[in-house]
Order: sequence, then C-alpha cells, then structure tokens
Amino acid sequence: MRSLFEVKNLNMHYPVTDGLLGNIKGYVYALNNVSINIYENEILGLVGESGSGKSTLGNCILKLLNPTSGEVIFNGENILNKSKKELNDFRKKAQLIFQNPYMSLDPRMKIYDILKEPFIINKIKDKTEIDNKIKRIIQLIGLNEEVLSRYPHEFSGGQRQRIAIARAIILNPEFVVADEPVSALDVSIQAQIVNLLIKLKNELNLTMLFISHDLSIIKYISDRVAVMYLGEIVEIAPKEELFSNHKHPYTQALLNALPLINKDKPQKIIISGDIPSPQNPPNGCKFHTRCPYVMDKCKIKHPEFYEISNGHSVRCFLCESS
Ligand code: SF4
Repeated sequence: MRSLFEVKNLNMHYPVTDGLLGNIKGYVYALNNVSINIYENEILGLVGESGSGKSTLGNCILKLLNPTSGEVIFNGENILNKSKKELNDFRKKAQLIFQNPYMSLDPRMKIYDILKEPFIINKIKDKTEIDNKIKRIIQLIGLNEEVLSRYPHEFSGGQRQRIAIARAIILNPEFVVADEPVSALDVSIQAQIVNLLIKLKNELNLTMLFISHDLSIIKYISDRVAVMYLGEIVEIAPKEELFSNHKHPYTQALLNALPLINKDKPQKIIISGDIPSPQNPPNGCKFHTRCPYVMDKCKIKHPEFYEISNGHSVRCFLCESS
C-alpha cells in the first residue's frame, strides 16, 4: 500500500497567555508526537472523546493550523515547509468537509455560486467547464439541477451537507478530511450521508480521514481505525482487527459502551470521569488516571507504540511483550 500522507512526530502545543500582559503561562498539549500513515484510497477512521485532538490533527494535516513541530509528507513533500503560494496546489488536492452544514454554507449565496466559488479561488474561468462540473457534481451527490438557483435555507440539513460535500470535492481532490460530517444531522439522515461518502470514495478514488466520536459509524465506514486519547494515537489497526481484537484499555472501554457491538457480552471496562485537561496532562501513560489496569510504571513512564501484529499497534505496557 502506498502512503498518501506520512505524518511524523506531529506536535501542536498552543500557548496559554495571561490576559493583561500576554505572558505565556502554560501550553495546551493538543497533539503529542503523532505519527501516522494514511494509505491511498482508504478511509481511515479517527475516533476518540471530545478534546482528544482529532479535529486538531485533521486541521494540521491540511495545514489549516500550523503545528508546533513535526512533518506532514504528502506525495513525498513536507507541506509544512511550503509557502502560502506553494500551498495553493495542495489545497486543490486536499479538502475539508465541515461538521455543521448550517454554518458552512453562506446563506446569501445561491447554490450555483457556492459551487462556483472554488473555481474562482483557483482562477479557473472557463464557464463551460465550470457549468459542466457543477452539473455533474450535483447529480453525483443525489440532487438535481433545479437546486442550483436556490438558497441554503431552502434545504434540509442532509441536503445542505450534500451540497457542502459537493463543494469540497468539485475540484477532484485526492484527499478529504471529513470532520464529524454527520453529527449535526438527524440519525435517520446520517446513514444516507455516510453511504454517499463511501460511494464518492469509490467512484472518485478518494482517500479520506473520517473523524467521529461515534464508533458505530466508524465501524461502518472505515478501512482502518485509529483511536486517539489526549493528543496521542493509542491504538491503530485494520477495522476488523480493531473491532474483534482491541487491546488498549481505552479502546476496550469505548467498545464496551457500544451496545450494538457488544450486546451479548457483559460490560467489562467502564471508565469514569472526564478526559484530563490537555493543559495539564498526566505524566507517564496519559490514560493512567482512568485505567483499571494501571501499574506503578504507568504513572511515571510513557509507553511506546508496540506493534502486536501486522498493522496493529498499541500504546500500552500490557502489549510490551506481545
Ligand atoms: Fe493502562 Fe498502563 Fe496500559 Fe496505560 S500503559 S493503558 S495505564 S495498563
């Protein structure tokens, strides 16, 4: 498998300043040494609680945020070293689908103009080409041309998200970050949008980072799954392996809370309390304050990422000798 992205030792530490003088009084450790590959034409599911750093990772990969350190290699080039001008080409190839279709579409613009905007930004002026691409994309997302003369408020949440997806893919990107793209939608609509993303991935050869806190959706859509906790990847594996042979106590706890997956099994691990503040993360294993298997060394030593089988890695001392 060829890697489209290689993320290496990515850190994102936001300075926290005091209000008056602007002195730095600490940092929010949003991402900590994240290294991950995203393979061509896969959907990599990224799951974790709110505050785990999922969206920050998606935004850093697209260079919508500037990480503190690390590398994001796209097609062999580190995009973090590129100038604003050099990034224009990358922006055509890598796009973001937002969570909230109510906020992401300008209410004053007709759908045609919303879909035309990416062409204007990229200085594409051929009207025939633009019209043909807009008509094609509108069909591809399951709407008809009649919608082009209407405004966003005339559409349901699901239809708006289809339009937002159309705008994200209209310039044929290679890669899309879908950041909680269905969490603002009714449950009845979520499956339609997830199926649309799978169809688009297959028809357009897209590679996708699909971010969600919802494991049942992650299970449905992903080829591989990465689990994040407090700014770190704690487990990554092919989907079937992760759902049948999860090893990290945090992944186990997430999966045990999922009734559809574990309806016949007793609840094994229940984690309590909230995720610690990323401004003051625990020493050692970042999960040790909530882990039922915590050992003395977990409180002082940071576990490595141990590969326990092909493509399955776990950041936990329990897997040290696997
Ligand atoms: Fe739990 Fe220790 Fe494993 Fe961390 S390293 S998940 S605290 S057993």
